[in-house]
Amino acid sequence: MLPNLQAYHRPDSLEEALRLIRQPGTVPLGGGTHLLPGRDPSVEAVVDLSGLGLSSIEGKPDRVSVGATVTLQRLVESAELADLTRGWVREVVPLVASRNLRGQATVGGMLARGEADHPLLVLLLALGASLTLWAPERRTVGLESFLAYRRRLLTGGGLITELEIPRPVGTVGLGFAYVGRTPKDWPIVCVASFLRMEEGICQEVRLALGGVAERPLRAARAEQYLLGKAVSVEQAEEAAALAARPLAPPTDFRGSGEYRRAMAEVLVRRALLMAKARVGAG
Ligand SMILES: Cc1cc2nc3c(=O)[nH]c(=O)nc-3n(C[C@H](O)[C@H](O)[C@H](O)COP(=O)(O)OP(=O)(O)OC[C@H]3O[C@@H](n4cnc5c(N)ncnc54)[C@H](O)[C@@H]3O)c2cc1C
Repeated sequence: MLPNLQAYHRPDSLEEALRLIRQPGTVPLGGGTHLLPGRDPSVEAVVDLSGLGLSSIEGKPDRVSVGATVTLQRLVESAELADLTRGWVREVVPLVASRNLRGQATVGGMLARGEADHPLLVLLLALGASLTLWAPERRTVGLESFLAYRRRLLTGGGLITELEIPRPVGTVGLGFAYVGRTPKDWPIVCVASFLRMEEGICQEVRLALGGVAERPLRAARAEQYLLGKAVSVEQAEEAAALAARPLAPPTDFRGSGEYRRAMAEVLVRRALLMAKARVGAG
């Protein structure tokens, strides 16, 4: 637990929450699954977000909005999100957390942690998600930018209130591929791909990779290459090589940098061809 904790707050308005978390030594508390066991000595007060009314999943015509205190388990149970993600949310979230942990950990906590190999973050990047953040004023930030500037945005009282996932329009396909120590384990490297095709030609593409850098990344050069193409096997291979070439992944006990880069190439190809095969499948 937190060794220097002196105060627990549970505000019922956003204004009050924002005022509190701007105080020195004060941090937001989502599900507490990371914060509480973390024993961070600099934390003197926590602001429990559960009274702020940020716990709904709301379907809108062009997107689904997910409140920051929605738990990971509610994402898995949401029919709306299963439909939007073509079922992938139900495959991906259980890879990172057991049922008990999913019932407690929140979307806001997951986003704030910004784990480099988090498969849900990778899927959300491929879906073009954004989030609503108070830092210090309200703003909407694309997930890719948020992950790049996460520490700066959250330091000194940044608060995530909502995740927004756009509804794909047109004939689209989504693919996801990963390697882990076991098939049910947290992925070592993972890739998500989103394709929108019209008359067999790629009009829109997002390729996201996890476990290859200090944060989840998009593969901009590979995306650029695929636009206007049919995404054939050869083109998927070329895109995979383009995606892997600039990577310099870190080495740790789960995989060397070389292994991660080699896997990134294999998985980009696999995720792209999977997305292509599923285009228009609903
Ligand atoms: C047994 C166990 C195993 C775990 N394994 C892993 C693992 O393998 N990988 C991993 O990444 N995590 C792991 N965790 C940590 C944790 O489950 C995840 O990081 C989870 O997504 C955090 O969500 P939370 O709501 O519990 O966040 P909290 O613990 O409440 O908060 C995490 C951080 O986010 C900040 N925060 C929370 N909500 C917001 C918000 N709305 N806006 C801004 N900042 C916010 C907090 O101040 C804190 O700094 C594990 C935890 C446990 C107990």
